[in-house]
Amino acid sequence: WVKESGRSAFHFHQPRKDVDLLSRMRLDHAMRQALQEGQFRLHYQPQINLASGQVIGAEALIRWRDPLRGEISPAEFIPVAEESGFIVAIGEWVLHQAVEQAARWLRQGWRMPVAVNVSALQFQQSQFADTVAHALRASGLPPGLLELELTESILLRDAEEALRRLQSLAALGVCMSIDDFGTGYSSLGYLKRFPIQRLKIDRSFVKALPSDASDAGIVNAIIQMGQALRLHVIAEGVETEAQRDFLLRAGCDEFQGYLYAPALGPQEFEERVWRRGNPSSPGGGMRLMGG
Ligand code: C2E
Ligand code: MG
Ligand code: MG
Ligand code: MG
Repeated sequence: WVKESGRSAFHFHQPRKDVDLLSRMRLDHAMRQALQEGQFRLHYQPQINLASGQVIGAEALIRWRDPLRGEISPAEFIPVAEESGFIVAIGEWVLHQAVEQAARWLRQGWRMPVAVNVSALQFQQSQFADTVAHALRASGLPPGLLELELTESILLRDAEEALRRLQSLAALGVCMSIDDFGTGYSSLGYLKRFPIQRLKIDRSFVKALPSDASDAGIVNAIIQMGQALRLHVIAEGVETEAQRDFLLRAGCDEFQGYLYAPALGPQEFEERVWRRGNPSSPGGGMRLMGG
C-alpha cells in the first residue's frame, strides 16, 4: 500500500521538469536585469601563504542581492547562466571589475593579485584572449597580477584546442590555475604541457582532513604531483587549524578558507588585509603565523 501511494505521488510530480525549466528561465531573466541594474558585486577571498601567513592574492567571487529574493548563491545562478549562455556577459563584467579593482589597489600602492573564475563557455569563445587583453589594457593592470581559474572539465573536453587557447592566454602574461582540482580526471600528460602555475585542491578533499585517511592520501598525492610538475598548490575551504597544520606539513604552499576569512567586500578586504595586515580572528590563531 505504501509503495503504491509512493508511486502515484511520483507520477503526480512528473511535470516537475517543466516547473524547473520555468524557474530557470525566470532566474535567467532576473539575472539579465540584475546586470543592467548593477545588482552584482564582487567579493574577494584572501589567499594565504601557509609558511609565512602573508596574504598573497585574492579570489574574486560574484555576489548577487536581488531586491525581492535577497542574496542568491552563485552555486544557484552560475549554472543557470552557463546553460543559457548569459555567463559570457557576466564573466566579462566580473573580469573588468576584478582587474579594475586590482589596478586601483596598485595605484594606491598595494600590489594584490586577483584570481577570476572562468566558465567553459567563456573559455570557448574565440575572442576570449582578446577580451582578457582588452580588460587588462583598459585597466592598466600588469598581466602578471591577473590569474584565471579554469576547471579540469574545461581543459579536457578538447585538450589540444584547450592547449592552444591556454598558450595564447599565457602569451599575454596572465597566470592560470586549475580550480576544483581532483574532481575531474586530469591527464597527467596534458597537465605537464599546460602553461599553468597552480593547482587548487577542491574543498571536498579538505573537509575531512586530517582524520579521513583516503582524503589525506588524495591531498598528499595532489601536493606531490604539484611539486613534481613545479606548480604551486593551494587548498580551498580550510576552516580549522588542524586542516591548516596538516597542509603545511604535507608541503602545500597556500590556502584559502574561513579559517582566515570568507570572501569580503572590497572595503572590508582593505580594512582587514591591507590596513591591519591581518584579519581579526576571534581565536587569534592566525597571529601565530607572523607576517
Ligand atoms: P569556487 O571557485 O571553487 O570558489 C570557492 C567557493 O568556496 C566559494 O563559494 C567560497 O565562498 C567558498 N569557500 C571559501 N572558503 C570556504 C570555507 O572555508 N568553507 C566553505 N564551506 N566554503 C568556502 P561561492 O562564492 O558561493 O562560489 C561558488 C562557486 O560559484 C565557485 O566555486 C565558482 O565555481 C562559482 N563562481 C563564483 N563566482 C564566480 C564568477 O565570478 N564566475 C564564475 N564563472 N563562477 C563563479
Ligand atoms: Mg574558484
Ligand atoms: Mg575552487
Ligand atoms: Mg570548489
